[in-house]
Amino acid sequence: MEEKIAQLKAEAAAAVKGASDVAALNDIRVKYLGKKGEFTAILRGMGSLSPEERPKVGAIVNAAKGEIEALIGEQKKTLEAKELEARLASERIDVTLPGRNVPMGHLHPLTLTLERIKDIFVHMGFSVEEGPEIERDYFNFEALNLPKDHPARDMQDSFYITEEILMRSQTSPVQARTMQSNEPNKPIRMIAPGRVYRRDEYDATHSPMFTQVEGLVIDEGISLADLKGTLELFLHQIFNENVGVRFRPSFFPFTEPSAEVDISCVMCHGEGCKVCKGTGWLEILGAGMVHPHVLEMSGYDPKKVSGFAFGMGVERIAMLSYGVDDLRLFYDNDMRFLSQF
Ligand SMILES: [Zn+2]
Repeated sequence: MEEKIAQLKAEAAAAVKGASDVAALNDIRVKYLGKKGEFTAILRGMGSLSPEERPKVGAIVNAAKGEIEALIGEQKKTLEAKELEARLASERIDVTLPGRNVPMGHLHPLTLTLERIKDIFVHMGFSVEEGPEIERDYFNFEALNLPKDHPARDMQDSFYITEEILMRSQTSPVQARTMQSNEPNKPIRMIAPGRVYRRDEYDATHSPMFTQVEGLVIDEGISLADLKGTLELFLHQIFNENVGVRFRPSFFPFTEPSAEVDISCVMCHGEGCKVCKGTGWLEILGAGMVHPHVLEMSGYDPKKVSGFAFGMGVERIAMLSYGVDDLRLFYDNDMRFLSQF
């Protein structure tokens, strides 16, 4: 009997040593020390022993059980330590590794240019007004001194949706809308930025959709000097202090007198190059004193107030600011181009 117990103890001890994880160790405990375990079976079978032998065998079994229990406890500690170590190793974070880059977007070059334009005018006290891109013929043309049979309408072939509704060909309708929503003769100092649509080619310098900023100032005693001063200040800020500015007489149906405004070529500084076609000047915007008829149509009295208006293409200013030679680059969504800004 004693031999059998010693053998069983050795077998259990070997099993404990060989257990590879805590779960296996629990199985071993059940197998040897559990209620239906091997040592319990021996204790239960003690009925067949003599009364002298019983306490002796009982003591040996209990001692063996105690030893195995202690072994299991030790092995459990060892295994738990190993498991922890393995987990720490597998979940380890190397804080010296370089971080993962989250790709960051940025504003489109046209948006950047438009923001700069707005900033300059807002600092001069202008408000920023917006209006619909699908516009009534009345606001797009008629209220700007362009009745239906006016020959100047040929200057800009438009996208008509119906006879009376079109994709706006300029942001000027926002000016007419602002004037008409105001009390009569209320002073205005506003810019209207936004997308406009014209039936045009899609090439290096044209697009059927482009971005425009128009401006309007109306108050008592506004003169051509105010127009000139405002635009010179703007052009010096958007390009640089040294850029030359000149006004050439021109014609627009909604202004009188009208002017094309040029800046000295930003590429050759007036020497003459391919960009300025050898002239040393670049056409940058159109402007003029608001036609009295336009004031009248929107409820302003040309005898009491006067005003000036101007309009420019944001793409053109972006192209000259960044040295971009093809307008289409702004719309092609080519990351090689866009990521440079
Ligand atoms: Zn030039």
